[in-house]
Amino acid sequence: MDEKVVIYPVFVPMIGCPHQCAFCNQRSITGKSINNPLMDIKDQVESIMGTAKMRDGHKEMAFFGGSFTCLSMDMQNTILELASPYLEAGLIDGIRISTRPDYISEEILDNLQDKGVTTIELGIQSTDPIVLEASERGYRYEQILDSIVNLMKYDFQVGLQMMTGLPYDTRLKSIKTALDFVAIKPSFVRIYPTLVVRGATLEEQFTQGEYSPLSLDDAVEWIRDIKIVFEHHNINVIRIGLQAQEGFNKGQDLIGGPYHPAFGEMVESSIYRVWMSDIIQSLLDYESMAPASPIAFRVHPSRLSQAIGQKKYNILYLSKIFPNYKVSIEQNNLVEIGDMAVFTDQTQLLYSRKSFISQRYEGIVQEMTN
Ligand code: SF4
Repeated sequence: MDEKVVIYPVFVPMIGCPHQCAFCNQRSITGKSINNPLMDIKDQVESIMGTAKMRDGHKEMAFFGGSFTCLSMDMQNTILELASPYLEAGLIDGIRISTRPDYISEEILDNLQDKGVTTIELGIQSTDPIVLEASERGYRYEQILDSIVNLMKYDFQVGLQMMTGLPYDTRLKSIKTALDFVAIKPSFVRIYPTLVVRGATLEEQFTQGEYSPLSLDDAVEWIRDIKIVFEHHNINVIRIGLQAQEGFNKGQDLIGGPYHPAFGEMVESSIYRVWMSDIIQSLLDYESMAPASPIAFRVHPSRLSQAIGQKKYNILYLSKIFPNYKVSIEQNNLVEIGDMAVFTDQTQLLYSRKSFISQRYEGIVQEMTN
């Protein structure tokens, strides 16, 4: 879908989820404790649609949280009917739900389609059997694959969610999950680094020293390569990391793990960092550059902060790795968003992100096959 998507999010609490995945405590994540869930959902719908402005794009009411299709069919329909008046009035174009891949039978999917659902997000999290078992997801990937393949035959937009840094996860296992997603050809993906939240099984394992979350640096590097896999295959990554949450920022519900309010930006900066390092290295391989020569990168203004990095991290990093050269990063309106221009004393070169992503992707695939 090329049209801009406008989401009106409604939180559906974990009333229907019969599972307790090791990393999950919905109350911690949402900061909510709810006595009358249906009334709360109704209030949320009325509140968000009461203030919704008519906006351009494909507009969806999104029932997030919990696992929507684990609810009884009656409850699913009661909730979906809350969106009906807005669908009929043309204020929204469809409905989005999120659920588990082992609760998408044809009966469920047919019903969702009849009720106006247009997008389904599936939390797969990993395709590795050991990671899934340690995370207490309750399925193995081969058990759910047929259902996912069946889902892809419907007319829904399908989004897949994965997590990195779950128990027993490795960088290569995470990349394998991304490659398995690519084979399914989803409409979009979300990528979350695993966090330790209060009340989840992982909290206990973490405090007893049985589970170590990824460091922020490792999480950024793992997800950078995963993003490169998806970008190479033109699969839209609509979200990296959780939204900034009040409780998290105050340290109330987040016990540990690689949380950063600008996590997605850090991943983008990491892509620029590797890209610029590769460019400098290739310049040094093919040009004779005198010590203290300037190497000036130019990017589109909208990419400047990502190229420079948080607290000028990329400039500091490149200056440390290549101490004999004067590295600078500036904006230039003439450079396309996906490109990067490089100026030295001797040359001016234009580099395309697409080529860099392809090259890096080949390296990742090579690493996987070794
Ligand atoms: S992650 Fe989803 S399936 Fe697992 S316990 Fe939480 S709501 Fe249920």
